[in-house]
Parts: sequence; C-alpha cells; structure tokens
Amino acid sequence: MQKEERIFLSPPHMSGNEQFYIKEAFRSNWIAPLGSNVDGFERELAHYNGVKQVEVFNSGTAAIHLALRLLDVRSGDTVFCSSLTFVASVNPILYQGGTPVLIDSEADTWNMSPQALVRALEDAQKQGKLPKAIIVVHLYGQSAQMDELLAIGDAYGIPIVEDAAESLGSTYKGRKSGTLGKFGIFSFNGNKIITTSGGGALLSNDEKALDKATFIATQARDPATHYQHSEIGYNYRMSNILSGIGRAQLEVLDLRVAQRRAVFTTYDEALRNIPGVAFQPELAGTKSNRWLTALTVDPEQTEITPQEIIEHMTEANIEVRPVWKPMHLQPLFEDVPYYPHEVGNSVSDQLFEQGICLPSGTNMSDADQQRVIKRFKELLTPKKLVLNGTL
Ligand SMILES: *Cc1c(COP(=O)(O)O)cnc(C)c1O
Repeated sequence: MQKEERIFLSPPHMSGNEQFYIKEAFRSNWIAPLGSNVDGFERELAHYNGVKQVEVFNSGTAAIHLALRLLDVRSGDTVFCSSLTFVASVNPILYQGGTPVLIDSEADTWNMSPQALVRALEDAQKQGKLPKAIIVVHLYGQSAQMDELLAIGDAYGIPIVEDAAESLGSTYKGRKSGTLGKFGIFSFNGNKIITTSGGGALLSNDEKALDKATFIATQARDPATHYQHSEIGYNYRMSNILSGIGRAQLEVLDLRVAQRRAVFTTYDEALRNIPGVAFQPELAGTKSNRWLTALTVDPEQTEITPQEIIEHMTEANIEVRPVWKPMHLQPLFEDVPYYPHEVGNSVSDQLFEQGICLPSGTNMSDADQQRVIKRFKELLTPKKLVLNGTL
C-alpha cells in the first residue's frame, strides 16, 4: 500500500514576507550578526511583549545561559528548574558548573508545582543553600501558575527566569508569557510557533542587564580599540539574515496563535468524549498559544498504551510524540535532587507515561487533521464496541 504523505508535528510556516527582509540584508550587505534586521526584530519583539528591551541570540539555550550568567550562577551554586521540560532548560545550569534541583509539575497546568517549590526552598534554607535562580517552564504554551510562583520566589528573594520557548504569544492574566519574571527567554527553533530556523531571545525590563548579555554574547569585548577581554564571553549573536526571517514571522504571530488554537479546538471537539482521553488544561485567566496539542491517554480505559498509539500513528506516517521525558528520569540527572508534587506522588511521571502530542502545525490542511482524528478514533475505539457494531 502506498504510504500517505507525512504529517509533521510542528513544521515551519513561512508568512511569505521573509524574502523582503532577507533582500534588505543583502541589499545593505549587512551579512553579519548585526544590522537593521537585528535592531528591528529586537524592537518589534519588545513592543509586542510590552517590555523595555529584548536581545536576540542564536538559540533559546544561549538565552537561558546568558540569563544564568547575569544572575551570577557559578560553580557550586544550585538552580531550581521544572523537571517536565526539554533538556535545553537545564543544560545551561551545567554550563555554569551549577547543580540543578528539579521540581515536579501540578495537574492544572502541567507546569511547576508551587507546593513542591515551597518544600524544596524550605529544605534549601535549612541547608543554608538557597538557589541563585528558579527556571519556570511554560509547557506547550500553557503558562505556569505565575502569581503563586512569583510570590514564593519573592518571599525567598530568588529571581525567576521564565523559559517561554514554547509560549511566545500566550498570556497570563493579560500579560504576555515570558514578561513576568526577572528574565524571560524565547526560542525561534524550526519547530516553534514562529521560527528563524534557529535562534532565541532574552527579555527583561532591566536594560542594563540586557546590554551586559549582548556584551557577553559578543566575546565580552571590552570598550577599547584593540582587542581586550576581562571575562569569559561567547559567540551567541543572531545573524541579520535570520533576524529578517524573524521580523516577517512576528508579523503573523497573532494569526499563528489563533490557528494553533483552532487546531486544538478541532481535536478537542472530536476526541474529548473518548473515555480515558484528557487534554492539557488551560488555567483560568490564561491563554495558551497551544503550540502543541497535548493530551493524556489512560491505558486502563482505552485498552491501548500511548506508546502503541505513537507506533501506529508512525506507521500511518503521522508524527505523534510522547510528552517530554522529565529531567529527573534522565541518566544525565540521575544524582540530582527532585521534589515531587507531593511525597510519593510525581505528577510529571504520570504525564510522561500517559502524555502524547498530536500534529499541530498551522499549515496542516483540514483534510490532514481529519486523517489524524480518524486514525486516532480507530485506535481508541474499544474492541467490544466494534464487535457490537458488527452484530
Ligand atoms: C525549544 C526549547 C528550548 C531551547 O530552544 P533552542 O532555541 O532550541 O535552543 C528551551 N526550552 C524549551 C522548553 C524548549 O522547548
């Protein structure tokens, strides 16, 4: 049988206006990690998000690393981080020689559990070793419980870095995701809601800190005509060509959010009545960009495991992925402290065991989405019902 065309999880979706900005970079010959597209993209991102300043870099990971540098994370320091995330949230802690402490999720957002965070901070205080920062991830576009987390951070005087790599365009109580903590970061990797093929941004209302970030990202070159350096730097800047792609992508971000949310709604309406299926919730007062439609499948009710669903979907040339494998279950972080939501109840373990992400690209046709839905329903229809149907 001829395989049907592949449906990707989250492919890039160009606006059509990218070439305009790319041409401008070529026309002006700013084929460099600086120029009018870099400046323009930073200004437009700051305006869109309602923050004083944004600096763009060559990856979201680099932006997280710079945030930790600005917060003076050093060898021997600890940094708290959401456990249910992509490894890029945590790796920069290791780059700085720090030790992560991993915090579980709670069921209402799938993001950092405030009560687990409190337990971890109480322990850290007893040990006289409070963290330098708390990295809060907004998974699949859904904002974490920021009021609670910010209040806890404030009570202990610990700054929050928002890993908003997946939640660009989402809001929390009317404010843009990524703008509530001391620093926020975005990613423009090829799979994200808008892309520059690769890239990231750091945002804050602390303009001095952001100037310092770009200084560090430019090999920490001292202001001297000769090449002089007093501290460690990196080459983390974003190309003027790629910033041009970002400018055209940002023009359609609100449209992309509406389209991703429409993809979610179509799945939700078609599949929510299947026993054992539950979609990632949207917390009251928040608006998720629904970067990926994520859901859990309880095999006790569905008679099929999430892993089997993924295998069957892959056979049908449909890209379905498990939810991120939590960091506390990774060999890399075997020896790292972990705080579950409640003692003996790890929410992220359960989300990992039962969670899958469906194709959520904004350039997926209605027919393609119906193909996913049809296959999903076939896989989840309990066998007894099929038998009844044939009687
Ligand atoms: C994509 C992603 C990143 C890192 O982004 P890159 O631009 O690929 O370095 C960080 N955190 C999360 C949660 C992500 O999904």
